[in-house]
Amino acid sequence: MLNNNTSKTIKSDLNKPKIPAHITCRQCGSDKLINRGKMVQSDMFCGVKLSNDWEAGSYYECRHCHLSFRHPIRKQSEYVNLYQETPNNIYSSINLRHDQKLVLDTINRHRTGGTILDVGCFDGALLSGLATTFQKFGIEASKEAQKLCKKAGIEIIADSAEALIDIEKKYDIICAVDVIEHLISPHIFIRDIATKLNPNGLLIISTGNANNKIWRLFGGRYWYCAFPEHISFISSEWIKKITNECPFKIIELIDYQHVNINITKMTAYVKFVGRLIRGYTELITLQMYDDKSNNPKYKLGYPGVAKDHMLIVLQLNINKITN
Ligand SMILES: [Zn+2]
Repeated sequence: MLNNNTSKTIKSDLNKPKIPAHITCRQCGSDKLINRGKMVQSDMFCGVKLSNDWEAGSYYECRHCHLSFRHPIRKQSEYVNLYQETPNNIYSSINLRHDQKLVLDTINRHRTGGTILDVGCFDGALLSGLATTFQKFGIEASKEAQKLCKKAGIEIIADSAEALIDIEKKYDIICAVDVIEHLISPHIFIRDIATKLNPNGLLIISTGNANNKIWRLFGGRYWYCAFPEHISFISSEWIKKITNECPFKIIELIDYQHVNINITKMTAYVKFVGRLIRGYTELITLQMYDDKSNNPKYKLGYPGVAKDHMLIVLQLNINKITN
């Protein structure tokens, strides 16, 4: 017969999300994973309606390499097809986004000209904000967005980040704004970029910081994880570890809020609280009905409340290149 303490231990273990034995980290292969819960079900992918069989999956964090990731994910070719279908109206931005402005200021602080490659350059808005002393190149999947870039004088060199390794040219600056979270293997991307930079070249990245405390609290239900196209999540710890393995040194690493310039701070906080109430009501309902099979519908958190993004400037360290 079980005593009270044993019974409580077993009960709390049963409530913890389980990790099926076959799941390992897709970066380092470790099975030392933390399951941070089911991810929010969404049926829209960059403005394209998804078929019903897209599984939102669960959110895992690797204790060894610090990559957080969605599992399961789809084949890379399925993502490429969807990015190519992204409709034109997604790219009708007039003003730069907050993160694009931050990156633009950062580029101008470090360089006054040279060759620059923007991976995932969208409509070319970021590159168009730079002086003519920069020679501008882009990688972009959407055919519609590529047309806008060409009109802006930007040379499109490829349609996917994974194609970077096949490009012979080297650049003074490579930037990747809101790109890392879309990649199946961010570590391979960083490793490849190291071979595409001129000596002392800069890699400028902006993406979410999965180490943010509110994000960690909400796990897979956090708003940034709710986009089905977001499949990999890095953190300041991940960056520090990867720069030990790749020939880069960290020049800047700052946390910032992902601000929507059309929404006031007060509105963001009100929406944050609204989501909290709705999300936890759903969670309680799912637990009441012991429904562990369904993914939640409601996300938690709201852009502009937490410093859940980071801007990273890495410099190629040629002393660390051995071959
Ligand atoms: Zn790992």
